[in-house]
Amino acid sequence: MAENPSNKLTDAYNQMLARAKQGLEKAGKGLGHALEAAEQKASELGELSREEAGKVGDYLRRDLHDAGQFLAETGQDLKAWLRFDLEQVESRMAELFLTVADKTKLELDKLAERAAQVGVWHTGEVTGIGTLQCQQCGEELHFHKTGHIPPCPKCQGTKFSRISWNA
Ligand SMILES: [Zn+2]
Repeated sequence: MAENPSNKLTDAYNQMLARAKQGLEKAGKGLGHALEAAEQKASELGELSREEAGKVGDYLRRDLHDAGQFLAETGQDLKAWLRFDLEQVESRMAELFLTVADKTKLELDKLAERAAQVGVWHTGEVTGIGTLQCQQCGEELHFHKTGHIPPCPKCQGTKFSRISWNA
């Protein structure tokens, strides 16, 4: 059976998140290292090409960095970042994401690396659980699981941001 290429990358995102968590727990060398090791593993095992692995790693890094920064700066919980109830997320994914986002927060605390990073998410890219906002019309897109970013359902816009929390 042919693999669906769109599931391939979303599955890889979830797998990479799980491996990053394992790496953090076992090696304890920090998130950057755990993510690199997870990227390498995916291409070594032939699950992804090296290029795909780098891309998926970047998607994951971007989401985690944003979540970690939110947790560090606002002192609020993941639910506030998601902008919906954690019960709407499959429990294994919720636990995974929460654990790794929390580690990211701790690292950012340590590094005092708080400079606001303004990320842009584009249609066609992969993102994990959370909420994106259309830069053109403000429409909110809720992701209850990892998925490909569609065009904005309201205005067909293709650029999205996380909702700003320090405005
Ligand atoms: Zn829009």
